[in-house]
Amino acid sequence: MKLVLKYGGTSISNTKDIQSVAKHVISLSKKNQLVIVCSATSGTTDDLIEISESIKKENKSKAEQLASKITNRHKQLAKQTIKKSDIQKKLLIKLNDDFKELVALIDGLVLLGEVTSRSMDYLISFGERFSGKLLAAAINDLGKKAIPLTGKEVGIVTDSNFSESKPLMDTTRLRVSKSIDTLFSKKTIPVVGGFSGADQHGHTTTFGRGGSDYSATIIGSCLKADEIWLMSDVDGLMTADPKIVKNAKLLKEVSYTEAIEMALFGAKQIHPRTFEPLLAKKIPMKIRNSSNAKNEGTLVTSSPSASVKNTVKCVSNIRNNGLIDIQGGSMIGTPGTAAKIFATLAKAGINVMMISQNPSESSITIVVKNSDLNKAVSVLEMDLLGKIIKKLEVTTGVSIIALIGSGMRGTIGVASKVFAAIEKNKVNVSMITQGSSELNLALVVKNSDTNTAVRAIHDAFTLDKIN
Ligand code: ASP
Ligand code: MG
Repeated sequence: MKLVLKYGGTSISNTKDIQSVAKHVISLSKKNQLVIVCSATSGTTDDLIEISESIKKENKSKAEQLASKITNRHKQLAKQTIKKSDIQKKLLIKLNDDFKELVALIDGLVLLGEVTSRSMDYLISFGERFSGKLLAAAINDLGKKAIPLTGKEVGIVTDSNFSESKPLMDTTRLRVSKSIDTLFSKKTIPVVGGFSGADQHGHTTTFGRGGSDYSATIIGSCLKADEIWLMSDVDGLMTADPKIVKNAKLLKEVSYTEAIEMALFGAKQIHPRTFEPLLAKKIPMKIRNSSNAKNEGTLVTSSPSASVKNTVKCVSNIRNNGLIDIQGGSMIGTPGTAAKIFATLAKAGINVMMISQNPSESSITIVVKNSDLNKAVSVLEMDLLGKIIKKLEVTTGVSIIALIGSGMRGTIGVASKVFAAIEKNKVNVSMITQGSSELNLALVVKNSDTNTAVRAIHDAFTLDKIN
């Protein structure tokens, strides 16, 4: 099989884990053609982002301190993990070159006193440069040829939308398949640092947080891989958060569309565009635990087998949001009201998570993250209060509960079952949305009611007996 294996940061952040990943890769490579994609080690991307914050605050010493923290962490990992002295020495030289480049970049940015989105992408792409080199060396250390590559080196070409770039797939397909095929013919395992590519001018771009998942599916689609495995520290997608529901179960199979909903609702953090490259080629994906190889994980496919087409597959939740009820008499029958509200929010960079409008058009209710709430309220007040908006009513500390499952489509009685279960537990629902795809039914409750509501719904649909 042609396999793309993507390792998350938590799977490659200490010596024992890196060595066991390298061992697993080597044993799989006996029967399969492998491409490895990796994230940065845990905390590294956060540290790089903090470097940029420090530069903006003109705190050069803090930026340098963080850079040496990253440096020391990787040097120490290299020394502890790589046993063969020649391989370790070569790795340390290569890491040192990267560190010098990182320090020079920081110096340059400090001089300029600004961090543009282009230099930001260059800066935060360093995490995967370090981890890719480390993992490739660990594979070399066990006697197998492996070579580290950045997204740019492997041939991922993107648009110039820094921090949220998208691949230009035609060019990318040609370049990636050529570079990987050359390595396959030399029996060398490519270890690609995820998260980044380069635009047509050669400037480094990134895909946004969690983007290594997306790197893996882009490469998988270019190679027409047989499967893509996302390896991390969880067993797969679950019917609910096991911290809330004790008898939550691992989902054996879900469809792409269900997985997309589950990714958005935070069941497991997966980059939202991860599934896009897989849809056309129908490449199956597995979500697996790197330290539990026996567990098959969750299979994400275009057509899950009939036996697993349950009505509802999971009930997930996102706490700590704010609800804004936007009211105003002149909103009724006025075309463009919603456009003005959402344009105002978009201009302020606020992501709206839920929207509902009642048919009388007298109010529009939205949910945003708590951290965006103050800003959302103030821009709406500043730009629209007294014009199309008469009043804003704000509720803080609310939780979104989402039921996901393609079997809900056209099934009668789902909503009544949900509300009966919730009512029995005396939980008040302050907002409901369901897209017309009927793939996702979401409700808003108080933060403090989250666990009760999730458990009640999990019970009502007997999700503990799902497989
Ligand atoms: N290292 C990047 C991040 O932390 C990308 C990734 O982990 O997938 O967001
Ligand atoms: Mg990650």
